[in-house]
Amino acid sequence: MRQIVLASKNIGKIKELERLLGKFASDVKVLGITDFPEMPEVIESGNSLSENAWLKAKQISVFSKLPTLADDSGLFIDALAGKPGIYSSRWSGYEGNDSLQRDRLNIEKALTELVDIPVGKRGAQFKTVVAFYMPNSDGSFFEQEQLGVLKGQISQVAIGNSGFGYDPIFIPDGFNKTLAQLPAGVKDEVSHRGKALRAIAPFLLDHL
Ligand code: IMP
Repeated sequence: MRQIVLASKNIGKIKELERLLGKFASDVKVLGITDFPEMPEVIESGNSLSENAWLKAKQISVFSKLPTLADDSGLFIDALAGKPGIYSSRWSGYEGNDSLQRDRLNIEKALTELVDIPVGKRGAQFKTVVAFYMPNSDGSFFEQEQLGVLKGQISQVAIGNSGFGYDPIFIPDGFNKTLAQLPAGVKDEVSHRGKALRAIAPFLLDHL
């Protein structure tokens, strides 16, 4: 069985990658960081999604000695000059581990900052960079990076319960519902992460 490590503790992301790779090949097992309890935490000190994705992919591959895929994502709001961008996860300043509370406070901050911005000027993009790092036994390595973008608008109120993060306030272009109102399968089809993963999947399968 071929193996790949996804540099994430997020079971949803691991399942998403398994689903996607499963469409091309049935013999790939996706491991997560929790399969390596001794793995040191990677400090995301980069200045871009790409830098952070590579920090995670390389450090985790060196530790696990396995091919590794990492992703780093963020929400870029036009009216806020691209904020929160690479700081999307902890934008509100909440430092705890309750992800629902973190998401709620981030959404509250976004809606507050945009309170005077009218419909039509609330454009935003989700972006993700996925980075694949594959060490070879002769010391060489293969690396590949892909960007995925989802364009849309920030709604005026939060609606919907599915998904995570800023999904309840993000209306993708071509829809009149937020991502949190759409079924997971539809989100996979249009999302930044879905696009980036579909673009990188052939490289993974060629090199695993
Ligand atoms: P990560 O690097 O993919 O963990 O994303 C960083 C932060 O961006 C997350 O904590 C979310 O707040 C936000 N984010 C990334 N992708 C999504 C998404 O698909 N929906 C909603 N929020 C997202």
